[in-house]
Amino acid sequence: MPAPMMDTYSPPDLVFDHGKGTRLYTEAGDAYLDFISGIAVNCLGHAHPKAVAALNEQAGKLWHLSNMFKVPKGIELAEKLCAATFADRVFFTNSGAEAMECALKTARRYHFVNGNPQRYRIITFTGAFHGRTFGAINAGGNPKYLEGFGPAMEGFDQVEFGDLDAVKNAVTEETAAICVEPVQGEGGVRAPEDSFLRGLRQICDEHGLMLIFDEVQSGAGRTGKLFAHQWVEGAEPDIMAAAKGIGGGFPMGACLATEAAAAGMVVGTHGSTYGGGPLAMAVGNVVFDELTSDGFMDHVVDVSNYLRQQLHGLMDRHGDKIAEIRGKGLLVGVKLKDGFDPKKLAGLARDRHLLVGAAGDNVCRMAPPLIITKDDASEAVAILDEALDALEAS
Ligand code: PLP
Repeated sequence: MPAPMMDTYSPPDLVFDHGKGTRLYTEAGDAYLDFISGIAVNCLGHAHPKAVAALNEQAGKLWHLSNMFKVPKGIELAEKLCAATFADRVFFTNSGAEAMECALKTARRYHFVNGNPQRYRIITFTGAFHGRTFGAINAGGNPKYLEGFGPAMEGFDQVEFGDLDAVKNAVTEETAAICVEPVQGEGGVRAPEDSFLRGLRQICDEHGLMLIFDEVQSGAGRTGKLFAHQWVEGAEPDIMAAAKGIGGGFPMGACLATEAAAAGMVVGTHGSTYGGGPLAMAVGNVVFDELTSDGFMDHVVDVSNYLRQQLHGLMDRHGDKIAEIRGKGLLVGVKLKDGFDPKKLAGLARDRHLLVGAAGDNVCRMAPPLIITKDDASEAVAILDEALDALEAS
């Protein structure tokens, strides 16, 4: 019999049974230190008691309603998100790609309802990743992800990440928006200069464009602020996609927008059967409250500084293999020199019970739960040290 699942993934022969905090366990009880957290998702670690309690309580009461009826916990979470950010309005989704779809639609609708339907083009960046729906793969523009899916969708103009002049040159009468990840994840864990995000804001203001931030990976406290762009003064977006960490492992996403930007998103323009459902909203509130609790972000900053310092030590020891330590906060990239494969490094680390991932641009990616301790960081770096010793050029 053929394998029942599509061949879209190639997981190793390692099955996890349960998780607790920063560790994942096999059925036999073998522990693994999780430094990828389902690709930047389990921000509170595994089986966080408050999240488990909220989910269990909600599961016993009400699972699903659809958006035919109000979900009070959704309104509560939307209010909290708006109070903590630039936003006035929220649309809840189930995933990051859906949050991006909503963001792209919101930007185009803004111009439509303001009498400029000809403004529909969106400037995007090399190395971008926005998800796997049709809209998102076209926004991302990665030829590998577009191949075989028919003609590329009209309306996206890709320019070099970090190049403000290229952005200025790409703006036309038809441009609706600029869409960017404040820290690129999939593209190689690349954090641009603050001046880049600020410059994008200025270009948008000059030309009446919507600025869309994709904070699906960089948000939810990952960089030590609730959202990564909040490190940069004068760089607030009009629209933002969030997901991954905001659900702490329960599938959810959100598109946030200012009142003005959301003007076109009226009854009938968008929808989702499951988005904003009671289970997701119950967990989402707990995650938000934890992320914004006293000292939580200080911990992320403190432990990420420690991890980065340790990783620089690792780079000193393995200067022949490591080219650069990058990223922001606990979104960390270890860029390997040409000839060394980050997937192989991740495999060698996994053999030693440390879970890390790979990203574009020859980068080994780490996105641990935000609750890691300095001891966890030291343990991870010690394992990576051994894995690097074992890593051979391909
Ligand atoms: N945007 C960014 C920046 C991402 O990193 C991802 C996923 O990795 C997505 C969007 C898509 O999110 P999802 O896989 O939840 O659809």
